[in-house]
Amino acid sequence: MTEDQVRHLKIHLQEQLASLQSETPALAISHCADENEFASLVADAYTRVAVNERSARRMQEIEEALRMMDGMEYGYCRECGGEIGWARLQARPTAIFCVDCQEERERSAA
Ligand SMILES: [Zn+2]
Repeated sequence: MTEDQVRHLKIHLQEQLASLQSETPALAISHCADENEFASLVADAYTRVAVNERSARRMQEIEEALRMMDGMEYGYCRECGGEIGWARLQARPTAIFCVDCQEERERSAA
């Protein structure tokens, strides 16, 4: 993996982070015409909270990856220390485990 490749991913991640940060859905439930509308507003609010949690997790992953890019840790598996591989990082720039370790973790988590 070259510096240019890392820089490319870094720009990509920074853009993703900026767009996640700009999605700050309002949770205010204001004037409701009737109970049905209220119910659908509440359901909608729950959906937004779930989306927010996903975005928050995603932002954490991205920030972590960006931090690792600034150090010399980026692109190496946190488990075995091996190279994660450029193809995998392109597909998933926030990956912190190599394919083998990731599969191993998913097997043991299941
Ligand atoms: Zn590994």
